[in-house]
Amino acid sequence: MLEDDLPSVRTLVPGLLRVVEAHGPAALVEEARALLLTGDDEMDEMLLAQWRAPTDTQFFAKAFLQPYARWLAESGGRPVDRVFERHESRCPFCGGRPQVSFLQAREASAESGNRDLICATCLTTWPFRRVVCAYCREERPTKLGYFHSPEFGHIRVEACDTCNRYVKGVDLTRLGLAAPLVDDVASAPLDLWAQEHGYTKIELNLVGL
Ligand SMILES: [Zn+2]
Ligand SMILES: [Zn+2]
Repeated sequence: MLEDDLPSVRTLVPGLLRVVEAHGPAALVEEARALLLTGDDEMDEMLLAQWRAPTDTQFFAKAFLQPYARWLAESGGRPVDRVFERHESRCPFCGGRPQVSFLQAREASAESGNRDLICATCLTTWPFRRVVCAYCREERPTKLGYFHSPEFGHIRVEACDTCNRYVKGVDLTRLGLAAPLVDDVASAPLDLWAQEHGYTKIELNLVGL
């Protein structure tokens, strides 16, 4: 349970806050300074609130919990204190929403590759059907749009006109060395494009895009 693990999660907090204070964007620097002065109880409350009811706008709470969630997933633990819906567009481990989608060839003979999602909370990956919205699970192809920009040949915006959400898809079959989480951050112009066209990202990444 996170409640029992809070003392160890809390030991990581000052390090990250100091890095952000020294190198982060102005808005986050201010928040980091405020958090450095926050007491343990208040910090614990913030972490528990984010764990139980995750939001992607709490940059620090999300960043503090990501290594913990990853460790829990890798060590075979279970997030017993997290209640979540179970369906295919949620992480099978922690119930988190997908950060990014990617295509990769599983077998040498596979022509077009398989689609996987990466959890924004614990970074677990899970297989997902190809032509389905990763938020509302819309399946009608006429409602699903895929948008490319010549600037990012192996990244596309996968948008849904039913829920108006989108996620970025990284095609590892076209660029084997691509790293989906890094590409998601590096292709910010695609987020601006999607927002201008009325789409909301399923889950903002750690830099708030
Ligand atoms: Zn997860
Ligand atoms: Zn949808």
